[in-house]
Amino acid sequence: MKIIDAHTHIDYISHKHQDDVFESICCATNESQWIDLVNIIKNDNAVYGAFGIHPWYLDSVKPEFDERLEELLLNNDSYMVGEIGLDKYKPYLDKQINVFEKQLKVAVKLHRAVVLHCVGAWDKVLNI
Ligand SMILES: [Zn+2]
Repeated sequence: MKIIDAHTHIDYISHKHQDDVFESICCATNESQWIDLVNIIKNDNAVYGAFGIHPWYLDSVKPEFDERLEELLLNNDSYMVGEIGLDKYKPYLDKQINVFEKQLKVAVKLHRAVVLHCVGAWDKVLNI
């Protein structure tokens, strides 16, 4: 049996080398990880990338991050957006919503798949 790991993170990408996992969708969840994931993908065609700012890493958000995200995605048609979303158990829900909306706009504009994170906020995520 061949298994695709549809949700892993850059820190756990070595798990794809487990016996039955032959492809992985890996999320780089803050901007400092984006270039690392680009380099992993360049060297391993079994890894597909999703790039974004996870709601747990709001502290890492820098101005115009969404413009840099769009620029990055334009470099490769297979790049996705993620892991992005909302988490009601983490602080600053208003800022989470703002960051989530900006990333979702990029994904919609470029017709990219999205890896979603949602904890206790399905009503808000669905409305957005
Ligand atoms: Zn995740």
